Amino acid sequence: MKLHEYQSKRLFAAHGVPIPKGEVAKTPEEARRIAEELGGAVIVKSQVLVGGRGKAGGIKLAQNPAEAEQLAGEILGLEIKGLPVRKVLLDEAADIKKEIYLGIVIDRANRRAVMMASSEGGVEIEEVARSNPDAIKKVTIDPFLGLRGFQTLELAKGIGLAIDQFRAFDRIAQGLYQSFLAYDASLAEINPLVVTGEGELLAVDGKMLIDDNALFRHPDLAEMRDVDEETSTEREAREAGLSYVQLDGEIGCMVNGAGLAMATMDIIKHFGGEPANFLDIGGGAKAERVATALRLILDDPNVKAVLFNIFGGITRCDEVARGILTAFEEVKPTVPLVTRLVGTNEEEGREILDQSDYHLITASTLAKAAQKAVAAAKGELSG
Ligand code: GDP
Ligand code: MN
Repeated sequence: MKLHEYQSKRLFAAHGVPIPKGEVAKTPEEARRIAEELGGAVIVKSQVLVGGRGKAGGIKLAQNPAEAEQLAGEILGLEIKGLPVRKVLLDEAADIKKEIYLGIVIDRANRRAVMMASSEGGVEIEEVARSNPDAIKKVTIDPFLGLRGFQTLELAKGIGLAIDQFRAFDRIAQGLYQSFLAYDASLAEINPLVVTGEGELLAVDGKMLIDDNALFRHPDLAEMRDVDEETSTEREAREAGLSYVQLDGEIGCMVNGAGLAMATMDIIKHFGGEPANFLDIGGGAKAERVATALRLILDDPNVKAVLFNIFGGITRCDEVARGILTAFEEVKPTVPLVTRLVGTNEEEGREILDQSDYHLITASTLAKAAQKAVAAAKGELSG
């Protein structure tokens, strides 16, 4: 579960991290009132669960309450990366001299939390990792010893902070780690942590990912869940009982079983293609669910070919085939379709698919199916 910036920052603040004074508004009028209370310039920030809000026009500086009202009105009407903006955070504008990155993630290979700091704050850490990896300093946190003072000192020196900022940096780093632990987070991040004109440190952005498996331990957090966390596609998939993750490739995959879905994606890559999605239609998939799945896949304009890889066990191939035909009535595919049906009722399944007006490319093994899908996506095999 992702937390909003304002939620993350409040949790950090509860653990001693300094944040700007601010409040959340749902309407422009409310934004104006908050700006009046804060006094002076305020920054109006869209609260959506995606990064890069600044570039998308979702963060604006207002000099006075009237401007805050106007900008809040504009931002509240935006949709950022598919998510509608329903709330804006109004923060006292900070006097920013320098932007730092500070974050904690879990290093699964080492089974440890790792704290990372960089003097290149404000930009995404993945970008820094690509362009200037030496600018990222890391310390590994021992779960029994916790985050030690010498480690935060190492980070503070590593990113070039001044000596009189070391103590404040340590307090913030410790607060971030305590928040990370207290809420079973998989990521806790302040980007940017800024150095102000007075040389103070201030967390102007915050991000937290909470391990969904630990949510039962945090009923207070479960209430923070945002209905707009998912895109409309993801929500539709979840409501239909599908595990669906959209990716950037060109081959749409419809598979039953998470393991088979992973294997299908791997083999597509092996033969030089890129999967457009991860999709597990689940066991015993009914026609209706299959139809929803196919509609979601074909809604993606990047999809150049679709691969159906169904292994019939509890799921019956004829049921899946019926779902595919139902979906064809609704969405007319314009891309080649490759099918591999094996297992329970595969004969019946194939007979059903033969009735379709669409020419389906069939394959008997996963390797052949993947090769054909890759060729079809390149236009070297037509449906
Ligand atoms: P993100 O783009 O979604 O990560 O949003 P951030 O909260 O990190 O804001 C993006 C950028 O806006 C920051 O890196 C800052 O450069 C700028 N920014 C954010 N808050 C303030 C502020 O209070 N004052 C000023 N001058 N700039 C800010
Ligand atoms: Mn940020």
